[in-house]
Amino acid sequence: MPTNTPSLVTSLRIIPRDQHPISRKGISPNALRVLYRLHESGHRACLVGGAVRDLLAGQAPKDFDVATDATPEQVKHLFRNCRLIGRRFRLAHVVFGREIIEVATFRANSDDGSGDREVHDDGRVLRDNVYGTIEDDAVRRDFTANALYYDISDFSVRDYVGGFDDVLNRVMRLIGDPEARYREDPVRMLRAIRLSAKLGFDIEPGTAAPLPRLAGLLSEAAPARLFEECLKMFLSGHAVASFEGLERHGLLPALFPETAAALAANRSGALRRMLVEGLRGTDQRVAADEPVSPAFLFAVLLWPAYCRSLMALQAQGVNATEAERRAADRVTLHQLNTIALPRRFSLPMQEIWLMQSRFSQRQRKRVVRTLSHPRFRAAFDFLVLRRAASSAHDEDIAFWQDAQKNPDAAIALHPAGAEDDAEAAPRKRRRRRRRATAAE
Ligand code: ATP
Ligand code: MG
Repeated sequence: MPTNTPSLVTSLRIIPRDQHPISRKGISPNALRVLYRLHESGHRACLVGGAVRDLLAGQAPKDFDVATDATPEQVKHLFRNCRLIGRRFRLAHVVFGREIIEVATFRANSDDGSGDREVHDDGRVLRDNVYGTIEDDAVRRDFTANALYYDISDFSVRDYVGGFDDVLNRVMRLIGDPEARYREDPVRMLRAIRLSAKLGFDIEPGTAAPLPRLAGLLSEAAPARLFEECLKMFLSGHAVASFEGLERHGLLPALFPETAAALAANRSGALRRMLVEGLRGTDQRVAADEPVSPAFLFAVLLWPAYCRSLMALQAQGVNATEAERRAADRVTLHQLNTIALPRRFSLPMQEIWLMQSRFSQRQRKRVVRTLSHPRFRAAFDFLVLRRAASSAHDEDIAFWQDAQKNPDAAIALHPAGAEDDAEAAPRKRRRRRRRATAAE
């Protein structure tokens, strides 16, 4: 990994307690316990990273990370409820029931042969426990806003990279040379989008400028990491802002190539409207503390790609059912090149898509089967979502709303359309036409 540490000149700014708004009331009691214990044992102990940033920005942190000059082994000696994790980066986890306080030793990014570093023949870093000073630890972090330290010894905030003013001015700024930092770790491009979306911060122009040009680097990132990052981007309550950020900074084609192509080709904008509506629904569910599922999320994100693929296959004369299956498989397979979507999510995602065509079927037997399908609820919610793209589904939505209460009454109330009349000759043609628009 290239180094950027030595070239960065840092100057320490100490913001005393009476000049910043971080109060111990905002910090988890367990994190405070860890900080005090380290401090009382003669170690340096600071809250660091996202928690300090969020507290300064007036948001409630979701977890609390601690940085210290104690080694992981020393930390382990201080806490009975501590386990050491990680080979490449050794970290201490202090466990309090469901809350884990992560304690990391100040680390340097340098490669000067000091410290405990082991590199594999193929260049992979196996062990990277190069401990350093708090300054080293600050400049190896990604954004200035993420490199602030709340020091438990005097309750001051310590700022080595100008992060304090950046948080007050609400900007995300990379530490060091932006292009070099993105090349070092392309996932930082997504972190820029995600954190600015989450906090409502601007991305500083120098940090934003290289994004469209370097978007292709994302293909070098580990697909599993991209999946994790996607979940954070889209299932944490700021999915719409994240999606718009990806579009604005040219990252969408790198992350979701087929969806980006389908959106560009869809002149009416209906597919984009529906996608954004789906993400808005996700954000509302998160805000209301309702569960959200990765399968439904990816069904929304990849639906434009699925529709496009489906229409192409049908244009080639592939019959509807076969085309649906093949489109679902194709889109999933292609997306796996970039994002490692686990099968436990991709299978239900495909089921949500494949169930859509069942909603126009009104024969009693089929209605009962559809209602008892384990994916019915998600697939029906998806159908409702499709209203954002087209009013063609209103009748189906009304039917299935009634059918959930009483299938027989619903069948009587909403007689099947001509296209559902068993084997009527015009059915095929009409169905095909219906599907082509229903694909939106
Ligand atoms: P949140 O937890 O709100 O999603 P966060 O900033 O805490 O945001 P984490 O992934 O928990 O994000 O990372 C904790 C800290 O580790 C960051 O604040 C940053 O200082 C550092 N960090 C994380 N990822 C990187 C990276 N790719 N490069 C450099 N530093 C990083
Ligand atoms: Mg965090």
